[in-house]
Amino acid sequence: MEFEPVIGLEVHSQLKTNTKIFCSCSTQFGGDPNTHVCPVCLGMPGVLPVLNKTVVEYAMRMALATHCTITRQNRFARKNYFYPDLPKGYQISQYEFPIAEHGHINITLEDGTTKRIGITRIHMEEDAGKLIHDPGRPVSLVDYNRTGTPLIEIVSEPDLRSAEEAGAYLRQIRSILRYLGISDGNMEEGSFRCDANVSIRPRGTETFGTRAELKNLNSFKYVESAIAYEIKRQKAVIADGGKVVQETRLWDSAKNRSNSMRGKEEAHDYRYFPDPDLVPIVIDDEWIESVQKSLPELPEARKERFISEYELPVYDAEVLTTARELADYFEDCVRQINNPKMVSNWVMGTLLGLLKTEGKTIEDSPVSSAQLAELLTLIKTSVISGKIAKTVFEEMVKSGKSPKVIVEEKGLVQVTDESAIEAVVDQVIAANPGEVEKFKAGNAKIMGFFVGQVMRETKGKANPQIVNKLLKEKLK
Ligand code: ADP
Ligand code: MG
Ligand code: ZN
Repeated sequence: MEFEPVIGLEVHSQLKTNTKIFCSCSTQFGGDPNTHVCPVCLGMPGVLPVLNKTVVEYAMRMALATHCTITRQNRFARKNYFYPDLPKGYQISQYEFPIAEHGHINITLEDGTTKRIGITRIHMEEDAGKLIHDPGRPVSLVDYNRTGTPLIEIVSEPDLRSAEEAGAYLRQIRSILRYLGISDGNMEEGSFRCDANVSIRPRGTETFGTRAELKNLNSFKYVESAIAYEIKRQKAVIADGGKVVQETRLWDSAKNRSNSMRGKEEAHDYRYFPDPDLVPIVIDDEWIESVQKSLPELPEARKERFISEYELPVYDAEVLTTARELADYFEDCVRQINNPKMVSNWVMGTLLGLLKTEGKTIEDSPVSSAQLAELLTLIKTSVISGKIAKTVFEEMVKSGKSPKVIVEEKGLVQVTDESAIEAVVDQVIAANPGEVEKFKAGNAKIMGFFVGQVMRETKGKANPQIVNKLLKEKLK
């Protein structure tokens, strides 16, 4: 029997507010343990939480960006459980009345088509602290700096059908959060985390199978490998005549497998009830409108605009709009040199390649958009060839010098003087009578050989159009 995977993701994202959700402690990552704390986030008796309005606005931003309906009167609930990093004995979260519901986003699949993925709900909650297990001693330490950092949880419908789709969904969610400026989406620092729910069912059937939940996946790679592993595991269980049990599993990235952590907890285990310390949040049209107005152009819209305005292929538009900073860089360049496809090729091929090998992001690119535009202008005005430009680019990265200075210092200016190039062309033709024969006998590929020879003789400085033109004339 053929099985189809069914996947739903729960994404937790910290919000980039300056202060915590219910007190004025700093949300700064790091810091000496237990220095960003106060009686409220330490859960001392008698303290009262005061809601940070920016958290609500950030959650509304995400809700509107994902086409959710905002709950006009939403409220906080206590989710009761004990954990050493949760000093109150309960987490303030939302339950029956989350801030937003019934949204969707579109993801782009490998074949370039898009698929709509439903968003079940978005709710606000507080983060817990962090346990640090001392490898040298049989003790665990607890750091409450993270306690009370604002989070939104974004729950998807079980609309995803493969590990790749789950990866694409997660990337799109992260991209939207970053465009909105409400989260840094940093998986390494744990400010963006994901639980994946996975089940399988016979292809063509409607009812869902029993799901396993993979907890706290903290890299895109782990999300995809843990889901792929889980699909395989469940297929094997069923092939063996067994049944998938509902449980929570943990991914072991060193062993590339997941292990059962515990049986699945149910909502009623948490004894949710409305938090009596916090009044309901009432959101009116005016507030929604003002947040709506503050939204930037989002990745999907920007991608569509890149396709129509700059006539870029879908793939280019997709890559260039993944991050707001990258799209800005591209548009800065295009403003200075009006040749979008040329800019796109250089940004996607050369620049992103370089950033990847250097482990950098576009924000700390060693070549600014102005410098890249200057380099491309040199190509466009035939001062240098595209090939020489690659050498200049490498030098720009190394020395930080401007392309013009490099071209001057190294004498890389392109030769466009026809008679000078003609002399070399004649020389190359004279030196290779055998190849001339082959070309005349119909082997068109030989042209490349001649161009290569002329370029070698001129150290890559001959204008390629002129070289081609002259060779064609002379070999006719
Ligand atoms: P819980 O907190 O109990 O995990 P949530 O409602 O927060 O419940 O999240 C449930 C997640 O699991 C959602 O993303 C949903 O799409 C997904 N899900 C529900 N049923 C299944 C299923 N049978 N197979 C895969 N995913 C599922
Ligand atoms: Mg869950
Ligand atoms: Zn505090």
